[in-house]
Amino acid sequence: MTQAVNAPAVSAERNPFVQMQRRFDKAADFLELDPGLREILVTPYQEMTVSIPVQMDNGSLRVFKGYRVQHSIARGPAKGGIRYAPDVNLDEVRALAAWMTWKCAVVNVPFGGGKGGVICDPRRMSVNELERMTRRYTSSLLDILGPERDVPAPDMNTGEREMAWLMDTYSMHKRATCTAIVTGKPVGLGGSLGRTEATGLGVAYIVREALAHTGLPAKGCRVVIQGSGNVGGFAAHFLQEMGHKIIAMSDMYGGIVNPNGLDVAKVRAYLKEKGSFEGYPEADPVSNEEMLLLECDVLVPAATENQITSENAERIHAKVIVEGANGPTTASADAILERRGVFVVPDILANAGGVTVSYFEWVQDRMGYFWEKDDVFQREERVLVEAFASVAAAAKKHQTSPRIAAYCVAVDRVAYCLKMRGIYA
Ligand code: NAD
Repeated sequence: MTQAVNAPAVSAERNPFVQMQRRFDKAADFLELDPGLREILVTPYQEMTVSIPVQMDNGSLRVFKGYRVQHSIARGPAKGGIRYAPDVNLDEVRALAAWMTWKCAVVNVPFGGGKGGVICDPRRMSVNELERMTRRYTSSLLDILGPERDVPAPDMNTGEREMAWLMDTYSMHKRATCTAIVTGKPVGLGGSLGRTEATGLGVAYIVREALAHTGLPAKGCRVVIQGSGNVGGFAAHFLQEMGHKIIAMSDMYGGIVNPNGLDVAKVRAYLKEKGSFEGYPEADPVSNEEMLLLECDVLVPAATENQITSENAERIHAKVIVEGANGPTTASADAILERRGVFVVPDILANAGGVTVSYFEWVQDRMGYFWEKDDVFQREERVLVEAFASVAAAAKKHQTSPRIAAYCVAVDRVAYCLKMRGIYA
């Protein structure tokens, strides 16, 4: 296995770079890729580390460190979010950039993979400080960004506000408004209708496909959803709309459970008003650890990484797991779940509805013509249904899990482009 570089002090089971490589190596074995091609496929195409001096509101100066990693541009411009967090590190950004390459390839959108991050604590910064930092970070990356080079998007602690600043900074330098430089923008500024719901809706489409594939009923399944943010909240909404029973939901402080089913609209309104589930009248409290172990048909981890590990995988009762979050299951847990016959739809397929509609946003920006929301949703559904079928076919062909099958589909598509393009010397 290729060595992880600049690995932070976490166990190998929780290191995202190691996790990504374990899955990649298995897929590369199935595909019988030659060693040179493997090396090209895991080595980031380009990495930039930048120092970002910012004048703080009190007049002092601070220097923040930022990264942008373009893992691959073999299939198109690098695509991937920018996160602001105190624990951002290059190794994590590299792993996330590679995940984006595989995710875009699984759903067959013409993008490579990238990711960016700035080490900062946005909760301790004013809006003006964040704006100055975002603009300076953008200007440091001008040479590598572009609608045909690298198209950022929001990630942890960034959203449409930061994307609007990024778009404006880039456009000011280019002396022309360039909306296609980022996705996840406000709808009035070149964003796409349906992007907000896209990831959660995509999770719901994938649950539907997974239930049909495993012979479980299309309605009335008991669903547990960990995380009630953009992904978990919309997944709950759409799965209830499809006729399933959402029996538990949670946020970072804990969750609630009601075996008769929660009223998702009521629960989400309560969470919005009170800021947590505490005191919700029509359910019992449950911890995040316990809720993963509840008796249910479908479990949707939609919160954060490393939730299903070698420590709890043996005690999970769900028949189907659909990964709304990125990296919620470790590679060690994969082996346990596979042995126990749990059908796990991996993140790079299950939450790819988001990047699919980001691709639609980029397409609409470049056309200067915008689609109706229903049109966006129908196109998203077609892409995800087709991607699920490709992964199911690869799983059958290689007699492997949906996760490794998804990597096989993705790695094969990227390897094909590399081979067709050849090595420019
Ligand atoms: P969000 O910030 O809107 O919501 C996250 C939710 O998870 C919140 O309810 C939060 O309280 C909860 N949470 C955080 N830490 C937790 C913990 N340790 N235990 C339990 N709950 C916890 O974020 P989001 O956009 O919904 O993203 C969720 C996951 O999905 C992330 O892994 C993200 O990378 C991934 N993802 C998001 C998108 C997207 O379009 N938003 C696309 C693809 C993947």
